[in-house]
Amino acid sequence: MRFPSVAVALALATALAAAGCSDEPGASARVASATPAATSTPTASVTPSVSATPTPTPTPSAKPTTTTPPKDTRAGKQLATPYEVDGIIVVSKKHRISAGYGPPDPTGPYHLESAAARALAKRTAAARADGVRIRVHSGYRSWTTQNASYQKALRNYPQNISFYAPAGASEHQTGLAVDLWDGVTWSLPMARTATGKWLFRHAHEYGFVLRYPDGKTKITGYHYEPWHYRYIGKRDAMKFPNNKLTLEEYLGLA
Ligand SMILES: [Zn+2]
Repeated sequence: MRFPSVAVALALATALAAAGCSDEPGASARVASATPAATSTPTASVTPSVSATPTPTPTPSAKPTTTTPPKDTRAGKQLATPYEVDGIIVVSKKHRISAGYGPPDPTGPYHLESAAARALAKRTAAARADGVRIRVHSGYRSWTTQNASYQKALRNYPQNISFYAPAGASEHQTGLAVDLWDGVTWSLPMARTATGKWLFRHAHEYGFVLRYPDGKTKITGYHYEPWHYRYIGKRDAMKFPNNKLTLEEYLGLA
């Protein structure tokens, strides 16, 4: 797969910022994974005992379930009901929803599903307590809105159309996904901001997962989006501590 040139990526990022859209190429922002280096100097006097070995990072694993996910056989009017695995809604390029679907219990200015809105409020307050600002860039988007932005992209960036979600393939239509930022730095550089880093580290504690991790385009169908968080509930999100696992892998859909 070929990434577009930096110039194209920049133009795209600018256009996206203006359009309030989301999907775009991951060119330069793998910063969020850079953990602050420990500053202590290793001393020779440390006895080679106890906990000198770092705790191994848990390897992302598929959900420990013995059942295979049901086939998505929905068609026609059935597309008004989203595809679900173990109670988790999946909306993607492979599992679409029709125009009539929206959050069953939307609330607040961003029309998020109520459980997601509550979790977002908690998360925003926790970040604020840490001195970090979280702003919503985009919440619920209707099929019609998504379609308009997709058609616009099709006209303006046909060469990059795979970076955009077609109508019915965007999680934003469920009211369970939010694009977040600090109100200043958007697009891939957002990953480098205090907000991007805080979210990367803590979002799962509030039931959200980084839905399109870096390097997982083939699985998710979308490029790296450090700003896009999806609410799946804390019990499941806690299985995504290092933002490497995708929902597809977790649910056995990859
Ligand atoms: Zn998004």
